[in-house]
Amino acid sequence: MKKVALCHIKKSYDQKTTVLNDISVTIEPGEFFVLVGPSGCGKSTMLRMIAGLEPITSGELRLDGELANDWSPSARDLSMVFQNYALLPHLTVEKNITFGLHTKKRSKREQEKQCLEVCEMLGLSAYRHKKPRELSGGQRQRVALARAIVTQAPLCLMDEPLSNLDAKLRAKMRSEIRQLQRKLGLTMIYVTHDQTEAMTMADRMMILHNGDVQQIGRPLDVYNEP
Ligand code: ADP
Ligand code: ADP
Repeated sequence: MKKVALCHIKKSYDQKTTVLNDISVTIEPGEFFVLVGPSGCGKSTMLRMIAGLEPITSGELRLDGELANDWSPSARDLSMVFQNYALLPHLTVEKNITFGLHTKKRSKREQEKQCLEVCEMLGLSAYRHKKPRELSGGQRQRVALARAIVTQAPLCLMDEPLSNLDAKLRAKMRSEIRQLQRKLGLTMIYVTHDQTEAMTMADRMMILHNGDVQQIGRPLDVYNEP
């Protein structure tokens, strides 16, 4: 269960320029919500504010109804997948996946068991003891996914997670991510500049343009509007 409500959110990095201008939307538990728009329109900024990595200039962020503007990132019970995967090069796949779990107060045995499960789920079992540099792009991306999923956080944020993959792998990973999200019942907020990705993955999508919401709705409704 994780409902995310943005209420009149504004963001400026300095006094002169507004990056996001009065964004309001409620993302329902279990929804796959896609933020789409051209480079520089403020997608990453929005995601980082939800994650608590960037302060909100004004407006309210509510998580399951509670005002969360000032919550620390770890208090928000969410996971995040970045474009560059952000893997630790000196750690094995297994250690990369379980790296964040010490804050979750889970025993070592429990961590190992959960790591095995997600590796199984993502076809990484044979690579558990390898280092990131020994993996292909697609495998690295799966490690980043595994690290998010193993936290069991009900909300997952993804920032252009597929943009470093070739077209064929991208298409395959789209459906894998979608299946995983359904299976685990995650609330997903997914950022992309790729309209096909948005169309094929989203329950609902929001098109951002120069910091304003241009359109919001189900993919077919958005694209059939005159
Ligand atoms: P967007 O949010 O639209 O993806 P970015 O600011 O992330 O825009 O990227 C701008 C450009 O830089 C894109 O063309 C992207 O392919 C390229 N780029 C982003 N990250 C990297 C990277 N780690 N290495 C090389 N090129 C990158
Ligand atoms: P997107 O993810 O859609 O490519 P971003 O959220 O990364 O867009 O960026 C939106 C705007 O905010 C851009 O004009 C970018 O230059 C600016 N911006 C992003 N991060 C910072 C920052 N840390 N400091 C100042 N300006 C920033």
